Amino acid sequence: MSRFFSPKNSALVPYVPGEQPRDQKYVKLNTNESPFPPSPKAVAAAAEAAEKLQLYSDPECTLLREKFTEVFGLRGDQVLFTNGSDEALYFLFLAFCDENRGVAFPEVSYGFYPVYADLTHTPALAVPLKADFSIDPADYAGLGRMILIANPNAPTGLALTRAQIEDILRSNPDSVVAVDEAYVDFGGESCLPLIDRYENLIVIQTFSKSRSLAGARLGFAAGNAAVIADLNTVKYSVNPYNVNSMTMAAGIGALSDPEYTRECCRIIAENRAWVTGQLRALGFSVLDSSANFVFAKHESLDGEALYLELKRRGVLIRHFSREDIRDYNRITVGTREQMEILIRKIREIMEEEK
Ligand code: PMP
Repeated sequence: MSRFFSPKNSALVPYVPGEQPRDQKYVKLNTNESPFPPSPKAVAAAAEAAEKLQLYSDPECTLLREKFTEVFGLRGDQVLFTNGSDEALYFLFLAFCDENRGVAFPEVSYGFYPVYADLTHTPALAVPLKADFSIDPADYAGLGRMILIANPNAPTGLALTRAQIEDILRSNPDSVVAVDEAYVDFGGESCLPLIDRYENLIVIQTFSKSRSLAGARLGFAAGNAAVIADLNTVKYSVNPYNVNSMTMAAGIGALSDPEYTRECCRIIAENRAWVTGQLRALGFSVLDSSANFVFAKHESLDGEALYLELKRRGVLIRHFSREDIRDYNRITVGTREQMEILIRKIREIMEEEK
C-alpha cells in the first residue's frame, strides 16, 4: 500500500477472480465460461465495428437497446447495459446503498457481493443458507434493506422458483430486490416477466455465460423505468461510455442468433446430467444444478487436494477456502470431451489414493 492510498480503502479485501493461467494449456473448468465460441454473427458484427473504433461508443446503446426490446419484450427505458454484469452489480450498490442503507445476500453466494458492500461502505447482512445449501425465501421477509440474490445461486447451482422470488418481492415492497440471473439460461426461471408487476424488482443478466461473450464484457440491469433512471444517473457519473462499440455489436449479433444460444445451453444441460451421474457413481455428492457448473464433494477425497491434483494433471476447477464449503469444488460444465477428461483424471487420482 502506498502512503497515498485513501484510509477509507485500507481495509478493502478485493475480489479474487478465478485463475487464468498461461503456463500450460488447461482444461479450464474454473470460471464458468462457455466452452463454445460466440455465435458467428457476434464475431462478424464485432469485427465490423472494429473498423469504426476512432469514434466513441454510443452511450445510449441505441441499436443494442432496440434489439433487446424486440427479443425480451420490454421497453427501452426498462434496461441499462453494463460492462459485464459485475458493473451492473456495482451500480446497484452505488444507487441504492450507503452507510445507512444496507444490503442482504446469501452467506454462500457470489464472492463479489461483500466486496461491493465494503467498497461502498454498505452494512451487509449475510443470510445463512439451509443445511442443504438452499435459500429459504422466508429468511428474506421484510429485511428493510436491498436484497441481492443470485438465481440460480453460485457456487451451489441451486435455483429458486419465480414464485419464491415473488414471495421475497412482496415481503419487501420498500426495498430493491435484485435478482442476479447470470446462470438462468441453463435451467432457471427468469424474473424478467415480473418487471411490470413489481416496482422494486431489478433483474441482472450477463452475456458472459450462455452467450459465450465473457471476454467482451456485457451485462444488463432490467427493471421499471424509475429504478433504471437511477442506475443511469450513476452510470453517467462513472463512465458514460461503459460499453464499447465492438461489444455492443457482438451483443446484437448474439441476440440475433437465439438458436445458437439455445443449442449451446441444451448441450451444457446434457453434459451436466452426464457428469453429475458420473461423479455420483464415483462417490461424490453433487447438488442438483440449474447452472453451467456443478458443486460437488467426495466422501473421502479432500476438496483442496482434489483441486491441486487435478491442476497438476492439467484440469482447472474452482476451490474455495472458506470453512463451510471447503470440502466442495465448483466444476464448470464444458464439452463432453472435457467432461470425459475430468472423469478420467479423477479416476486416476482415486486409483493412486488407494
Ligand atoms: N454474477 C454471478 C453470480 C457470477 O458468477 C458472475 C461471474 N463471475 C457474475 C455475476 C459476473 O459476470 P460478468 O461480469 O462476466 O457478467
